[in-house]
Amino acid sequence: MLIAGNWKMFRGPDPVALAGLDAVVCPPFTRLRECVEAGLTTYAQNVHWEAEGAYTGEISAPLLLELGVVGSLVGHSERRQYFGETDETVAKRARAALDAGLRVIACVGETQEQREAGETEDVLRRQLSMLEPHSELVLAYEPVWAIGTGHTATPEMAQDAHAFIKSLLDAPVLYGGSVKPDNAGALLAQPAVDGALVGGASLEVDSFKAICETAARIPS
Ligand code: PEP
Repeated sequence: MLIAGNWKMFRGPDPVALAGLDAVVCPPFTRLRECVEAGLTTYAQNVHWEAEGAYTGEISAPLLLELGVVGSLVGHSERRQYFGETDETVAKRARAALDAGLRVIACVGETQEQREAGETEDVLRRQLSMLEPHSELVLAYEPVWAIGTGHTATPEMAQDAHAFIKSLLDAPVLYGGSVKPDNAGALLAQPAVDGALVGGASLEVDSFKAICETAARIPS
């Protein structure tokens, strides 16, 4: 069971308060070093496909590895929605990061409109079609309509989507979208749910720890 906290563009909690927690943290770039120094399993929120070059505002896998960062998110829906990320660029980022020795959590998920139009499986199929299996690749199913909205997928919806994703690509699948201490247990108990990617609730030490404790109680 893997629990990852995505701090987005928030400063986030004191990394020292999370020391010893069995979880991944994805802080903003400015706090990566602090998290590494606190002994946390630290991932970036994005990574470029080139090792170096004239790519202002980007960060490469070798630069992250040099800092002690061990993985990265790729393809978060906010990257796709606001920064022009496509299935192709997400796949390029994932491949380069994995080749360089980083672990990767690649995010997929449908919008509300796509779900209502019955397109969820087509969207997931398209998003996954560019990704190749890898021992260090984890997927995160994050329905866009559930991110930061308080509208969580039901455990059954998560289970169905995860089972579908696993039928296409053999990898652990985290659920993401308004995971909180009070709904984590039911979501994580689903057989195809291998953990959670937590946004808002990872910004508070108590709620993030509570989710991690719930996860630790679920038999693997
Ligand atoms: C996320 O940022 O990946 C996320 C799932 O956010 P939240 O938990 O706030 O919905």
